[in-house]
Amino acid sequence: QTTIINDANNSTTTTPPHVVLVPLFAQGHIIPMLDMARLLAQRGVLVTFITTPVNASRIKPIIARVHESKLPINFIEIPFPCAEAGIPIPLGCENFDLLPSPELFLNFFDAIRLLSHPLEQRLRDLVPLPTCMINDMWNLWTANVARSLSIRRLVFHGPFLYYRALVLTDDHDDDVGQSFKVSKAHSSGWSNMPGFEKIRDEVLHAAETVDGVVMNTLDDVELMFVEAYKKVVGKDVWTVGPLCLYDKDDDFSARIVRGNKTAVDQEKLFGWLDSMEENSVLYVSFGTLTQMKVGETLEIGSGLEASGVPFIWVIKDVEKSPAVEEWLEGFEKRMSLRSIVIKGWAPQAAILSHKSVGGFVSHCGWNSTLEAISNGVPMITWPQIADQFLNERLVVKFLRMGIAIGVKKPMFYFGEDEISVSSSDVERAVRGLMGDGQEAQERRIRATEIKGKAIKAMEEGGSSYENITMLVEYIKHA
Ligand code: UDP
Repeated sequence: QTTIINDANNSTTTTPPHVVLVPLFAQGHIIPMLDMARLLAQRGVLVTFITTPVNASRIKPIIARVHESKLPINFIEIPFPCAEAGIPIPLGCENFDLLPSPELFLNFFDAIRLLSHPLEQRLRDLVPLPTCMINDMWNLWTANVARSLSIRRLVFHGPFLYYRALVLTDDHDDDVGQSFKVSKAHSSGWSNMPGFEKIRDEVLHAAETVDGVVMNTLDDVELMFVEAYKKVVGKDVWTVGPLCLYDKDDDFSARIVRGNKTAVDQEKLFGWLDSMEENSVLYVSFGTLTQMKVGETLEIGSGLEASGVPFIWVIKDVEKSPAVEEWLEGFEKRMSLRSIVIKGWAPQAAILSHKSVGGFVSHCGWNSTLEAISNGVPMITWPQIADQFLNERLVVKFLRMGIAIGVKKPMFYFGEDEISVSSSDVERAVRGLMGDGQEAQERRIRATEIKGKAIKAMEEGGSSYENITMLVEYIKHA
């Protein structure tokens, strides 16, 4: 529904369609939703983006760029429910990656449910009123808000469609794609994590109560899964990705400010990358949510050292124990000429788009996978939880642009002192991926082809571009 209002000069103005985006407060969920916000705003939609004070401060440079570019995006900060509301979460932990322990994940879900009332109040005050809401698949509490405002609600899914189709049918032995059989062992993850049964079931059935589904994926990579999923879900499904390619004209500096303040001297990092040969550097990073044990960190480092390959290695804040710091001192000295170790947040999208980067050791989070696909970077796959095991199979078996490191089960099934991968596994995979052998060359060629498809999908006439046009039309007439 499009509203006609009169401006100060008494001329008639048409207000744009207005959508509210409600992300889950986790980096892997906020980042693609921010990309979507910019994409929809570029296409003439007025966007209200929901955040909290701590999350807003992390994306301050993005907010500043949005304001500079005059994109119609309105950021609303809602105070995060804290201890006063009876939720035992330390003050300031407004994002999953700030929680001191995964044991608090369920409390975090309880906390964000309390945002329902303040969100409704804030949305009621907006002029023009939103006509549609797109919420992250984990934010099911938004259903009441949309209902009481009588607006349409769509759900946003990150993980690739095959995962959704499988978990929805709840038949993990099924063969949805002809050449892509998956057993239960390969589809385990959150769905099996102890304590998550209730929320898992809610999320699995989330699509039942919404008006449609927006997916950060592209038909060219998984058309048969798109079709299978549409049949299962029986609703409008818009595949609009890879969202990380939301603006082909955006410059390198925009990619640097994605998500958080970086913990590295950018001049030094990109100066070093500029000095390296094309495709010679390996990028090693395991996303934002899972934590490598001390022993695993040491195995990774030893494997990288033995491989002889130049690398950038990201060690998260939560992984910086005194034992790791002590070990790193000697390691960084030995590796000073052929590596950069980033302790904290890395400008991942910018690194992966640099021509010197020729490989990516990844946990196969969906955003990281899409960023590798979008930049044509072959991967070493090291899944940890959730959809990551299926993403690994997409990359290794289906797209054939990766080598599996060989992890067989989710991280929470490993004993306290058990280590999932040894330094020789790391060395073998790195040499295989970054070497000059025929298989490595073919992998690079396939990765470049897939990158071409991803870019084309987001360009005018491409499948995702056209789906976004249809999504905008839907929002206009909601
Ligand atoms: N990311 C980043 N710098 C880091 C770690 C992560 O920019 O140091 C970004 C990464 O580019 C991706 C997102 O954070 O966009 C992580 O999402 P993903 O789905 O890969 O993994 P998750 O952290 O959700 O498991």
